[in-house]
Parts: sequence; C-alpha cells; structure tokens
Amino acid sequence: MKTNTNIIILGAGFAGMMAALRLANRTRHQSVAITLVNASATFVERTRLHQNASGQTVPAKSLRTMLQGTKVNFVQGKAMALDPVRRTVTVNASEGVQTLSYDKLIYALGSHTDLSRIPGATEHAYAVEQHAVLFEHLHKIAPSHGRVLVIGGGLTGIEIATEMAETHPALRVAMATSGTLGEDLSKMGARYLAQTFQRLGITVHEHVKVLRLEAERALTAANEQLSFDVCIDASGFGVSPLAQQAGLAVNPRGQILVNAFLHSITHPDIYAIGDAAIFEQSAELSVRMGCVTAIPLAIHAAENLACALAGKAEQPFQFGYVIRCISLGRHNGLVQFVDGVDHPRESVLTGRVGAAVKELILHYVMWSLQIERRFAFYRWPHTQQAHPQTPTPTTGLGTAPLLSEVTNH
Ligand SMILES: Cc1cc2nc3c(=O)[nH]c(=O)nc-3n(C[C@H](O)[C@H](O)[C@H](O)COP(=O)(O)OP(=O)(O)OC[C@H]3O[C@@H](n4cnc5c(N)ncnc54)[C@H](O)[C@@H]3O)c2cc1C
Repeated sequence: MKTNTNIIILGAGFAGMMAALRLANRTRHQSVAITLVNASATFVERTRLHQNASGQTVPAKSLRTMLQGTKVNFVQGKAMALDPVRRTVTVNASEGVQTLSYDKLIYALGSHTDLSRIPGATEHAYAVEQHAVLFEHLHKIAPSHGRVLVIGGGLTGIEIATEMAETHPALRVAMATSGTLGEDLSKMGARYLAQTFQRLGITVHEHVKVLRLEAERALTAANEQLSFDVCIDASGFGVSPLAQQAGLAVNPRGQILVNAFLHSITHPDIYAIGDAAIFEQSAELSVRMGCVTAIPLAIHAAENLACALAGKAEQPFQFGYVIRCISLGRHNGLVQFVDGVDHPRESVLTGRVGAAVKELILHYVMWSLQIERRFAFYRWPHTQQAHPQTPTPTTGLGTAPLLSEVTNH
C-alpha cells in the first residue's frame, strides 16, 4: 500500500460534506489525504431554497468553518473534467486551473433544476436555485397581485407554491401538474394538502402537461394557455454531465450507475453518492433523489472506503424509508408515514406539529454535520438491502468489486 492515499470528494452538498467528515473520522490515524472540491465557498442547504426564494434569510455556513478541526483539505472551484484513466480531476479554482490526482474518488455533484426539460424554460422561467433574482421579481409583482405559476406537482413544487402563497398573500399562485395534487400521499395526506392549497388560495391545474413556455404564458398539451408574470419550473432535477463525459456508465438522466457497494459499475475506483448516483437496474433497492437518501449513501460510501483502505470487506448498502416531510409554508407541514419502500401508510401528522417535525429534521441534519466532525453520529433504518445476494467483495486498496461480479446481477 502507498504511504499516502489521495482521496478526492467532488461536491460539498449534503452527501459530499457528510462523506468527507465520516471518512476523516474513520481514517484519523491513517496516512490518507482527503480533498473536498466544491464550486461555492458556502454550504447550500438546498432543502431551504424555497425559503430563500420567498425572501427569507437562511444563514449560509462557510465550508471551511464546517471542516474546521478535521484533516479535510478544501479546494474551492468548479470541477471541469474527470479523467478516470489517469485518475485526475481538472478544477477551475480561484487560483487558476488545477489538476488533482486521486487514488479513490467520491463523486457527489448532486443535482439542480433542469430547465432544459421544457422548451422556453431557460428564457421564461426561474429555477429555485436562482432565488435572489426570483425573489426580486416576486417582490416587484406582489403589490399588483401578480400571477405566479409553479410547474411541477412533486414535493419540491408543493413546497415552493405553499411558501410563496404564505409569504406573499397578495400574489396569485397557481400550480400545474401532469398528475393530481398529492397523488403519492395517503387519502388523509392528500385531503390535508388540498385543504391547505385551498386555504392559501393556490389554484391547481391537474393533468396539465406544459409543452413550452413563452413570454408570460405556458402552452399545454391540451392546447390551452396558462398566463403568468413569474414562472417557476419545478418539473424535475438534472445532474452534471461530467460523469457521462468521462465515460462512466450512467442512466439517461446522467446519474452514475452504482452497485450495492456504491462503486461505479464501470469504474470501481469511483464511489458515487447522493443525487448524482443511482443503483444499477438489477438492484433490489431504489432510492429517490433526496437529502433523506443522500446522507446515508454518503456515510455508507465513506465507511466502505475506510474498510477498503484497512483491507476489510465492504458491505452492501441498506436503507429503509420511514416518513416523508413536506413543508407547507412556515406554519404548516405534512409528515406522511411510509413503509420501508416509501409507499404511504394511512397516518399523517399535519399543521403546526407537521411543520415542527419538518423543522426538527432539517435542524437534525445540520447538527449531524457539526457532530460528525468529532463522532460518527448519524444513523438510519436498515430495512432493505441493495442486493441481498451480492457476495461481499474483498476490496483492499486498488481491488474493488470485480466487474463481472457487479454487472451480472
Ligand atoms: C426546494 C427544495 C426542497 C427540498 N426539500 C427536500 C426535503 O425536504 N427532503 C429531502 O430529502 N430532499 C429535499 N430536497 C432535495 C435535496 O436537497 C437533494 O436531494 C440533496 O441536496 C442532494 O444532496 P447532494 O449532496 O447529492 O447534492 P447537492 O445538495 O445538490 O450538492 C451538490 C454539491 O456539488 C456542487 N457542485 C455541483 N457541480 C459541481 C462542479 N462541477 N464542481 C464543483 N462543485 C460542484 C454544488 O455546488 C453542491 O454544493 C429539496 C430540494 C429542493 C430544491
């Protein structure tokens, strides 16, 4: 084994930050250099971006501060290219372009609102990530009771629409969804959601597929038009093209296909986690994009990598869902209990209790990131395994799962 192992972690969102902290913890007494690369110098709590967009101030923590006291070296810069053959990453950093070499890579570049899904969205809609300009625009149209159209009826669209309607009651908020409102919730959950939308005065356009956006109007598949002053596209997330450009096996969305041990199925030196990763088709576990899955995936990859460095066997990922938490503004929330595979149970928590649980969980995540600087703290339910039949590979440094082993499932 080399005396110093270089590990690069790309992306310092929930997944990358947690992976860096857990790995630093587990390799405290080993000769391992960990470098965390991120485009911004501050931690973006994406789960609160709808609050930013509605004009609330969410304190942004400095990544360097979050890493204080650990052995993680932080490089601020945008990863521009990945060369899995030479094992290098090209980073456009403030000091200039740098080429960083790695022995092992953890890929955690996350996701973003994909404005390319709907023609015209780039020109005529905002992504919630553009929260500063979006808020300025909302602020301008609020006094004249401006119209806001949110496209997408998933959890993100619901959180955005309710936050806007609650914070800016003068706005006329509408949502367009290709399905029905709350279709993934229990009857009680869907009923509560419908009541909340009604109370907040949000108009819902169900079974509406937006085909294209033009200035101040959305054109639908049924040949109808929905007018707006501000449109927010929450119809889906996309991922960075970096992995695909580097030749890693990815799904049509560009997420890296991983095996049960969270290795890229084509490049075992690379672990992929968070929104940027997806289990290969043969896996018996599917995880949706979310902070709820990003953190367990991150910890598991860090633990597996620490095992590999210590010459121990890696373990297949295990996970189980318990609840889905949806904020409906600052005063109401909906906690939907689910079974291990994310199917809704009948029970829900609503109103202020629901809002308090959601808030507690968001705080718990940020506290966990602080505590992880010192202790391996975070836990999650292990009700399902990614590949129950997968034999445990021997993964000393440089020996990852054999390709035949991971592609034949
Ligand atoms: C409004 C909103 C509300 C949400 N609410 C919830 C919720 O309640 N519960 C839940 O489970 N999930 C929620 N999500 C989803 C959740 O935020 C994401 O699933 C989660 O952030 C994924 O974590 P990640 O670390 O994989 O990616 P990200 O959080 O996206 O982090 C990726 C990091 O990589 C960096 N990066 C990207 N490209 C590059 C590059 N080329 N070079 C360098 N750095 C780069 C980014 O700057 C970022 O810091 C919500 C999302 C939104 C938008």
